[in-house]
Amino acid sequence: MSETKTNFIRRELVNWYREEKRDLPWRHSRDPYHIWISEVMLQQTRVDTVIPYFERFIQAFPTMQHLAAAEEGDLLKLWEGLGYYSRARNLQHGVREVIEEYQAKVPETREEISSIRGIGPYTAGAILSIAYGKPEHAVDGNVMRVLSRLYAIEEDIALPKTRKTFEQLVTLLIDPEDASSFNQGLMELGALICTPQKPKCLLCPVREECRAFEEGKTDSLPIKSKKTKVKKITYSAYLLQRADGKWLVEQRGEGLLAKMWQFPLIEATDTSWQERYGITWIDVESIGEVTHKFSHLTWDIQVFQGKVEQKENAQLGQWVTEEELAKLPLPVPVQKMMRLRVDRSLEN
Ligand code: SF4
Repeated sequence: MSETKTNFIRRELVNWYREEKRDLPWRHSRDPYHIWISEVMLQQTRVDTVIPYFERFIQAFPTMQHLAAAEEGDLLKLWEGLGYYSRARNLQHGVREVIEEYQAKVPETREEISSIRGIGPYTAGAILSIAYGKPEHAVDGNVMRVLSRLYAIEEDIALPKTRKTFEQLVTLLIDPEDASSFNQGLMELGALICTPQKPKCLLCPVREECRAFEEGKTDSLPIKSKKTKVKKITYSAYLLQRADGKWLVEQRGEGLLAKMWQFPLIEATDTSWQERYGITWIDVESIGEVTHKFSHLTWDIQVFQGKVEQKENAQLGQWVTEEELAKLPLPVPVQKMMRLRVDRSLEN
């Protein structure tokens, strides 16, 4: 790697970041706990979406001790809508580990920090560099895209083994004097300038040394193979009320959206579900459809709403008031269903 190119990229990237960085709430803090929260929230979620979540979260759990002591329901309620709920649970678990095993101080070495639940190589590098100024790599998809273009690296960034190439490259490139600005500069460049489509090369601070720009390869890099096909599942969801106005809900088990709450969500082939919830129809109608995409799966849901009678012997479900429903952690597909609801009290 040419010394001149390395120095140029370091200097221009760090200067550009210092001048152009967005004013984001987590950038006002060097508290490793705050950086940790922001990095977990930012995985797969847009910055604009994360800002209010981050602010509410810090207000509710200003220290690791507050988060460690939180009820899981309160934690999930604050995370509601961000998705990837296992991350919230892992964050709480990780914070408890830091309190118990590291005297409530987030460790400063990659080896120790990587042993904490939920902290992978990227989050470890982000916390170490941003909070502690350590020259540690923090490589995610954004960073791989930028570096693929800068160095015309033609390795498939969808393959897990490719990440190592980029981690080694960042380790050589990173500014030891200001690792925080360097890593955040790479991330910021990927978010604002070197975007997946139509990178804004004319505004780019490192264009002079960019091989993809020089060789006209900005559209063909990075190389990213397509993911395997997303599976589809068709469900019916039932938003059911008893005569006293209470809603039938249930808590999910382990796995996808673990422990979140939902209305009965029934696979299309299941014909005996009403017995398990101990209900009989009075008046139920279709109120619309909801589609929800996870990374590996799509749910197509036909949504029904109606009045039912409760019999004895229900094996599943709980009945809650409208106020109780509002306090439960509800995943995004269920929130979408809530927005379809028709006010039945105005009818008849
Ligand atoms: Fe990305 Fe263009 Fe800058 Fe190269 S010049 S790093 S392709 S924005």
